Parts: sequence; C-alpha cells; structure tokens
Amino acid sequence: MSQANQEYIVISGARENNLRNVSLRIPKRKITIFTGVSGSGKSSIVFDTIASESQRLLNENFSTFVRTFLPKFPQPDADAIENLSMAVVVDQKRLGGGSHSTMGTITDISPILRLLFSRAGQPYVGPVNLFSFNDPQGMCPECNGIGRSMVVDMSKAVDLSKSLREGAILLPGYSVDSWDWNLIVQGGPFDPDKKLSDYPEEELEQLLYGKAKKVKMDFAGKATNITVEGVIEKFTNKYIKQDVKTKSERTQQMVAPYIAEGTCSGCRGARLNRAALACRINGLNIAEMASMEVGQLIRVLREIDDPAAAPIVKSLTERLQHLVDIGLDYLTLDRETDTLSGGESQRVKMVKHLSGSLVDVTYIFDEPSVGLHPRDVHRLNDLLRKLRDKGNTVIVVEHDPDVIKVADHIVDVGPHAGSRGGTIVYEGSYQGLLESGTLTGIHMKRPLELKRDGRKPSGTLPIRNAALHNLRDVNVDIPTGVLTVVTGVAGSGKSTLINEVFLGQHPDAIVIDQSAVGVSTRSNPATYTGIMDEVRKAFAAANKVNPGLFSFNSKGACENCQGLGVVYADLAYLDSVKLPCEACGGRRFKEEVLAYKLNGKSIAEVLEMTVEQALDFFQLKEVVRKLQAMSDVGLNYITLGQPLSTLSGGECQRIKLASELHKKGSIYVMDEPTTGLHMSDIGHLLGIMNRLVDAGNTVIVIEHNLEVISQADWIIDMGPDGGSRGGQVVFEGPPSQIVHAEQSVTGRYLK
Ligand code: ADP
Ligand code: ADP
Ligand code: ZN
Ligand code: ZN
Repeated sequence: MSQANQEYIVISGARENNLRNVSLRIPKRKITIFTGVSGSGKSSIVFDTIASESQRLLNENFSTFVRTFLPKFPQPDADAIENLSMAVVVDQKRLGGGSHSTMGTITDISPILRLLFSRAGQPYVGPVNLFSFNDPQGMCPECNGIGRSMVVDMSKAVDLSKSLREGAILLPGYSVDSWDWNLIVQGGPFDPDKKLSDYPEEELEQLLYGKAKKVKMDFAGKATNITVEGVIEKFTNKYIKQDVKTKSERTQQMVAPYIAEGTCSGCRGARLNRAALACRINGLNIAEMASMEVGQLIRVLREIDDPAAAPIVKSLTERLQHLVDIGLDYLTLDRETDTLSGGESQRVKMVKHLSGSLVDVTYIFDEPSVGLHPRDVHRLNDLLRKLRDKGNTVIVVEHDPDVIKVADHIVDVGPHAGSRGGTIVYEGSYQGLLESGTLTGIHMKRPLELKRDGRKPSGTLPIRNAALHNLRDVNVDIPTGVLTVVTGVAGSGKSTLINEVFLGQHPDAIVIDQSAVGVSTRSNPATYTGIMDEVRKAFAAANKVNPGLFSFNSKGACENCQGLGVVYADLAYLDSVKLPCEACGGRRFKEEVLAYKLNGKSIAEVLEMTVEQALDFFQLKEVVRKLQAMSDVGLNYITLGQPLSTLSGGECQRIKLASELHKKGSIYVMDEPTTGLHMSDIGHLLGIMNRLVDAGNTVIVIEHNLEVISQADWIIDMGPDGGSRGGQVVFEGPPSQIVHAEQSVTGRYLK
C-alpha cells in the first residue's frame, strides 16, 4: 500500500441500512465532522460501519475462547474498510455504576486524592485505603460507605404547624391521648397547646431526638419510674436500627410510609469513618475536598506548601484542570455518576481519554455539543483539537454550526432521510460547505430572526423559594398557554428548576425525554403508536380471519426467528453474524399469513413501508392521524417495522412527541428536543411546538439552540454561571428584550 493511502481511512461500497454504496476517505490525525439531516445515514457510516469494524478487528486479536465473552460485532456490509486504527466511541450513554461510582472514581482522581491525604494529612494516619469509602477500612460503618441510609421521613412524621393536643405527632402510636402521647405530655417539659414550630430549638430537639431517660411520673397517685425518649429517636431505634424485616408483616406495612432514604446520620453523607474524617490538610478533610466544586478545589490544592506532596498535587491539579477546560468546573468529585446528564457523562468520558496516553486512536463522538451553551462550545472545540494534536483521528457526528467550524474535513450526508438519503452530498472544507448549496450549507448561512409579537400568556404557574442543589431561593412565574424556553450555561440549574422542582409540583405534566422507548425486541413504530392494532384489524376484516394472526407474538409469526426476521448465527471460528432468517427471508411471518393481502400488500410489505409511503397507502382515519403525527415530527423516513432499539435518543423523543400530539390543555416539558436534529429539521420541530401551544397547551423547553430560543414567546435565562456561581434567574422576558439584558450571556449570543 502506498504511503499516501496510509494517511486515510478508506471505505468503499458501504451499504449498511440506507447507505447507497458509499465510498469515502477520512484523513487520519485530523478532525472530520459528519453532518446532514436526521436519518440521512451519518450513524450508519460512523457507528455501524467504521466503529463496528474496528471493534470486530480488535476482537479478532483474542482467542476464540475469550471472544465468546465479548460483545459480538457483525461484519459491516461494505466492500472494503482499510487503514482503521483502534476506535474508541465516546457516547452519551449515561454513566451508571450505582452509588459507589462518583465523578472522582470514574476519572481516577479519587485514588490520587487519597494518596495525598495518606502522605500529607494531619494527624498522620495511613494506610491509603483508610480514605476509600469503597474499602471496609475506610467506609462509614453505619451506611457502608453509601452516605445515605434509611431515616424517618420528617415530612410524614410530624406536623410542625400543630400542637401536641392537635395531633402534631403523625407517627403510629402517638394519637392524642394514647399511652405514648401521654408519656410525652406528662413526662414534660412540653407545652401540649403550643405549635411545635413555636418551640424553642432545644425543646424541639428534645421532643424529637431526646435520648432515653428515666423520669418519675405520677400514676394513679403513685410515683413510678418511666423511660421517655424523643419520638424520632424511639421510632428509629425500634424500626430502623433493628432490621424491620424481622417484624411482623403488619408492622412492616404500618411503618413503611414513615421511612425514607436520607443522609446517613453517622457520617452526615461523607461516607467515611471517624478516623478518616479526622485527618485534615489545611483544615479540610477528604470528604470536604471531594464536595468542593472542581474549580475551587484546584485553588485549595495549590495552597498546600508541603514539598513532599508537590508531585501529587501537580498530578491532581492537572487532571482537575481538564474538567475545568471542558466546562465541568461546577461539578464535585463526590457527585454520583448516575445523576449526570447525557452531555455531562460524555464530557467526563472525554476527560478520561485526555488524561490517558493512547495515541493513533480513532475517537468517535456522537453530538458532543449536547447540553453545552453556545458560550462553552469553544471549550469542546479546544478539547477536540487537543485529541487531534496528540496524534489521534477524531470523527464527530454533529449539527452545531460552531462545532462544524473546527473541522479539518467535513462530510455532509444526504440529501434527505432514509431511502432519499444515504449518499455523500459534500466532502471538503468549511468554506466549501458554505458554497455547496446542500441543506447544511444553506442553513449555515441563514441569519437568526428574533420573534416579535409573541403570544400573551393565559396565566402563570409560580415557583416559590426553590432551593434545591444550586438554586438560590428562586422565585419565577412560568407563563401558561405560551412557548417558554429555559436556557443558561451548563450547570446553571435549568434541569434542577424544571425537571425536579417544577415537575415535583406538576406530576401531571407530559414529559417528553430521550430515554429509550419500547418494551421488547419486537417493538417498532407501528406497535408503539398503536397503528399495528388498526392494521391487524384491517387485514383481518379484508380476509375474514382472526386479527391475532398478524401479530409477531402469535402463531402467525415465523417459527424459525420468532418474528424477529433475523437469526444470530454463532459459527465456531467466526464472529457471530446477524443473518436474515432463511425460513421467512426477513419477512417475519409464516408463508400462509403473507398470502393475506390488504389492497394488494402483505403485512410484511406494510411493515417495510416508510411513514411517508404508508401515508399514501392508508385511508383509515385513525392510522392516517398517527402517521401524520410521525411525519410532522420529522420521522417520515423511518419504516413502520424498524425495531425501536435501533432509534437514536432524538428519534425516541420525537416518536414520544408524535404519540402525545393530540392532547389539549396539558403542560409539556421537553429537555433539549433538538438533540440529533439537523438545522433544517429544527423548523419542523418549532412548527410542532407552536401547534401544541395554539391548541391550548403550555410548552416548556430546556434548550441551548439559538434558533429555538429566538422563537420563544418567553425566555427564562438561568445563570450567571454554573454550580455555586449560578442558580439564579438572570432574565425573564421575550426574545426582543433579552438582547438588551446586560447580565444575560444568552442575550449576547442572540445578538
Ligand atoms: P443519521 O445518523 O444520519 O440520523 P442513521 O444512519 O441513523 O441516520 O439512519 C439512516 C437510515 O437507516 C434511516 O432511515 C434509519 O431509519 C435507518 N436505520 C438506522 N438504523 C437501522 C437499523 N438498525 N435497522 C434498520 N434501519 C435502520
Ligand atoms: P443545568 O440543567 O443548567 O445544566 P443542573 O440543574 O443539572 O444544571 O445543575 C445545577 C447544579 O446542581 C450544578 O451545580 C449541578 O452539579 C448540581 N446538581 C444537579 N443534579 C444534582 C444531583 N443529582 N446531585 C447533586 N447535585 C446536583
Ligand atoms: Zn454513613
Ligand atoms: Zn423468520
């Protein structure tokens, strides 16, 4: 092979999904960005062809024995894929891992911090493991290092607005005049007629948490020694400290409503035992450092002037700086990874790779701009450049114009979606793209317009004194009957305000998120939207047979593949391959079922139709309405029978939206609905949101996309920055005014 060819990853004749014999060259050690409308075939090239082949090659290095334990990657459908290096996919899948996985553990920063404490902490204690909440030597014995344990749910246990005589103690066994109630009132010194909220602090503490003590009480004229104990203390000792499972089922049911998970009282959430927490550097223990925002932690670490600790401090601050560089300075090391958003998860994974020493790797990113405010996109770009400059090949699927700009090479896939896409419409430089006349090129040049006469709200939904996470006593009114966009830099508090505080008050709101849809491998758009039920009935009526025959789960389904249409073949010395089922040829039904026709088409042929084709084919009112809804959310190109598991997060969100479109008078909440959408698809999405509002609904959208922000009726801008430097509403009002609001970063970018 010639030297010149080695400089490119070469793909010839790729045919995965909708790709039409695509051939292209991707320059190595450069940034290549794939763009194009949703469904055009970007993922089919980048993930299903390039990443998949790289994984498969990697697995071939292992013995057949080891390979049986690795995920199976079928050979992509292409004539040739040459010059691949090892590929690492950095995606938006959330970092799971439960409560023992934190930002610190996942980025490998925690072990270094522990090392620092074992070397430089006072009083000197070792061993290093003492500082690990995952290690029996270090973990808090009460919560086993989780930081949370079962506690009494105070909101259910006492009503502070009442007096004892009015029944302030809600726990079972304390009804007014009961035995336990009398013990408290007579054991004193509690005024039974005073509201608990009017008790002095100490008295309330004694009533609730007082330790057991003997008092003399008068019973029928006889002084008797009786043990009294704070009500919460007693309940905890009786039902929480002792395993409640050993009690009768009736008792368990009685106490369960009063118990909830809360901060561990042993370590107050710090997860470590007393010895570990007693060890300090410059007055701070390891848990206090782990709960500081990364930006502040760096400043604290720089003040350590112990020369023996200098190399450890240097290594720590270097890694922490990567987190700052990518715009995650508002996160803390003790943050549990399963509470991070998709975009945050992807950026954390990126940092892991930056600290690593791999070179000549092909890094593949899926829309890394998700969750980033326009202000912070340059940080992402710097990171992509750094990866490239270390000698890696960087491949990015992205729609954000500001990220597309950093590309050394751009591949525009199109011209449209599905069967009307699957080709490469432009390859080359950014300047060339602008002149190319492709949908991407045209939209990149279009100027932003601010919405003028917005709708008038029909009322407001107030949020008062919100103080969760970083929110600083936020008071804001969300207007009803209009389109409200909540924006602000990452970490400013948008999700906390809307997804936690607001939705906590309005559980009846319709949340349209990007989590996966579908319950089984057989779920598809037709079953999900209910179209399949109508279609089955139509087939049954036309052929005078049972509708059940046309279900994948019925006797009518192909027995060889159980209605999946594919079989996974495990061949002794080869990788497992996904093959079309021989019995039904991928059509999923038995021959006799396929013989039944509706207007000349079999059930399998109907399932192969795209939404667009099905709209031409069906006249059934209910089916047409549901198809039209899918078409309206830009899903014209998906086929009715495509497994839901193959849809992207953005597509999942839009299919949910399609099935909710007909409701009226509801509150809709959407979190970054532009994810996965090309600039030319955003107009569509805005059309749908406007239709929802015009039908009398309230729509609340968390977004960074400037086009969506500019078309809002009302903007709530959070900020001014992330984490402790955010948590305030910096602007509320229409788009025409945000550009004049000096404190609003978003306003500056809209100008
Ligand atoms: P993009 O990444 O540009 O949004 P995709 O590559 O995901 O587009 O999809 C291209 C086309 O292939 C679409 O019509 C999509 O519905 C279809 N497709 C994607 N994955 C699968 C799959 N696993 N099975 C069948 N069709 C698929
Ligand atoms: P945004 O949606 O604007 O990106 P978030 O509401 O996610 O911001 O975050 C606001 C602040 O609250 C940040 O400092 C973030 O780290 C913190 N935060 C968010 N979720 C949690 C959580 N589950 N636990 C602890 N802190 C959180
Ligand atoms: Zn604990
Ligand atoms: Zn079959």
